[in-house]
Amino acid sequence: MRQTVEEVMFERIKVCLDMYCCPNRCKHCWVGQSSNGNLTKDDLIFVAEKFRPFTNALTVYDWYREPDYRDNYQELWDLCSRLSDVRENHFELISVWRIVRDREYVKWLSALGLKKAQLTLFGGQEKTDFYTGRENAYNEILEAIDILLANQISPRIQMFVNKDNIDELPLIETLITKSELEKRCRSFGGEFSFFMHQGSCDGENEKRYAVRLTGDDLHMIPQTLADYTLKHFHKTRIEDVFGKSEQTLCEELKNDNSTASYVSKTPVFLVDNRFFVYPNVTTPGPSWCLGNLKTEGAETILENYTQNKSVGQHIRLTVPVCEIAASQGDETGQRLFEKDDYIQYLTNQYCRL
Ligand code: SF4
Repeated sequence: MRQTVEEVMFERIKVCLDMYCCPNRCKHCWVGQSSNGNLTKDDLIFVAEKFRPFTNALTVYDWYREPDYRDNYQELWDLCSRLSDVRENHFELISVWRIVRDREYVKWLSALGLKKAQLTLFGGQEKTDFYTGRENAYNEILEAIDILLANQISPRIQMFVNKDNIDELPLIETLITKSELEKRCRSFGGEFSFFMHQGSCDGENEKRYAVRLTGDDLHMIPQTLADYTLKHFHKTRIEDVFGKSEQTLCEELKNDNSTASYVSKTPVFLVDNRFFVYPNVTTPGPSWCLGNLKTEGAETILENYTQNKSVGQHIRLTVPVCEIAASQGDETGQRLFEKDDYIQYLTNQYCRL
């Protein structure tokens, strides 16, 4: 039975506006590439006002790529706080670009109570610059780590691993040891952490499908880095982090007649810099578009959401996952996927038929 916007009382709505995009062009970026925008404070206020009538608990963000990228980050933080009924702590994501250019930024993060910050490496300098899509990214990340530590914020290093950079894991292991990251975090009561994974296979990362790990690559992972990763994900086997082969997943999905609805009473919406709105399910792309906030308004967009009208939502609600897998899966494939990521990958392929 179809639900109307009135029937779905949104307990909470989070809405994220992509005001400025990002200084990087990462090859693993699940939100995909976009031109840098230059939206105004009035645009942010407009977005908040459009969604406000549909929930008593609105949270507004001025970004969904690299936070605090623009100079007026403090002003935007304050504005988001005023526009939000519920304000969360600062994410453990930070702007690496800004932290090495603006000495006030880390003090501001510290004043907000940030205790940990995540940084992403892909191996040594060449691989990290290549994957981040920006020259000197690696050196800036190392500088950012020192700045964080000097301000008693623990770095958490994330690494995306594919066939073309798995042999650089020992470089990361050496970096952690030589830089004494554990000891330096402990000195102020913090905790260093590291984890690796291969990320979901959508957005830009879908283009890395060909170099996705297979089971026979996992022996190349140094034990220390495996241990950090298992601790981070609360798992006991590294195979459980990287998932199962496509062959195994296709076999599992063969008799799975289930469908799924992404409709929630607490949705998160991504709004791009042309005011197109997407549910926070996968890459904000045409298959998941709910409409344009400027030209169609929030009610139509929320109706499209609750009635599963975007192409992706409609397919997932009406096509059994066994059909999607039979159509798009690789029954002999050995690339590793976490099950939900594989279903999402196949669904995105199916949407483009
Ligand atoms: S992964 Fe993050 S930092 Fe990299 S391009 Fe995407 S949004 Fe920017």
